[in-house]
Formats: sequence, structure tokens, C-alpha cells
Amino acid sequence: MSRPGKIVCVGRNYREHAKELGNDVPTAPLLFLKPPSAVTATGDAIVMPTASQRVDFEGEIGVVIGTALRKAAPARCVAGIRGVAALNDVTARDLQKSDGQWTRGKGFDTFCPIGPLHEGVPPLDAITLVTRVNGVEKQRATSAEMVFSIPELLSYISHIMTLEPGDIVATGTPAGIAPLKAGDVVEVELVGLSRVSNPVEAEA
Ligand code: ZN
Repeated sequence: MSRPGKIVCVGRNYREHAKELGNDVPTAPLLFLKPPSAVTATGDAIVMPTASQRVDFEGEIGVVIGTALRKAAPARCVAGIRGVAALNDVTARDLQKSDGQWTRGKGFDTFCPIGPLHEGVPPLDAITLVTRVNGVEKQRATSAEMVFSIPELLSYISHIMTLEPGDIVATGTPAGIAPLKAGDVVEVELVGLSRVSNPVEAEA
């Protein structure tokens, strides 16, 4: 898949995940950006930077934009989706906390594995997301559990910034996040749609 112009991410969009990190569920979508340079493909290594003592996986549903969306209503946003892809919002949790701003903790090279694009729009409230580490299931949820649905998220974002073809929206992670260690293999699957699997390495 070609590199997106931007990656718009949503924080705390599943109740149980907000709770596991001691946060309240937001009253409006909580947004941040990951740089396109963080994107990596299935099979490529996630490199844990020496600056961090805790690098977590976050399995997410990635929504890929097909047609430009500017101040668009939710139904119009659905028509503008090109497809979906498994996405791992890899996070240096300690740096996210200590910086306050999330750019560094979310922005290292290799911190955004994205699986192959599933073209078309599956039932957006019935996508099953599963994350495994070394074959052991760590996260399982469906998009019906989101605080803000995918059409609501896209519409909300489109009222702030134009979503352009190729842009990706990472729609938040469910409960079950945990740290990775060198030698792990982490896999995010949108069941029946897309899968991204990556080995984990320490920075040389
Ligand atoms: Zn995330």
C-alpha cells in the first residue's frame, strides 16, 4: 500500500481500554497524528528505540480514505471509504506519558505497521479485531464496542481537516494492550479482511 499523506489516530475509543489506563471516556473523539514515515509493512521489524523502556502494541482498525471528505456527514463519509486495513499503533508508553504531547511516543520509525488493504466497505459495526503476540491472543473486540463509530469519527475529523485519498484513520485500540520485547512477533488481524504481522527488535 502506498504511503498515506497523513495518519489520523483516535485515542480512548473503547471504554475498557480507557479504563485500563486510568482514563475517562472522552466526550468528543480524542485525536492525534502519526507521521507517514512511521509506516511499515507486514513482515518488517518493529524497532524498539533505546529512548523507551516500554513499547506497547495497539491493534486497531485502519480506515483508508478513497475520496476527499471535507465537512462531510457520516453517511457521505462511508461512501468515501476506499477500504480497511489491520493497523498497529505502536506506542512508547513511557514517552507518551512523560512528554504530555504524544508525537514522540507515537512517532518513531516502524511504529505504524499496516496490513494489506481490503478494498470496499465491510459492515462497519461488525469488524472483529484480534491481536496476538507469539500466537497468544491479547486483544479481541468488535467495532460495535467503539465509543464513536467509524462514520462518526470520519465526519468529526472532516470538520477539522480535509481527509484526502490515501489518508488513514486509526480508530483506537480495545483493552488488552501490553509491552513488547525483542524477539516477539505481534500480529493484528481484522478477521477475514486484513492482517499485519511483525517481528520486534531492539534498536542496534
Ligand atoms: Zn492507538
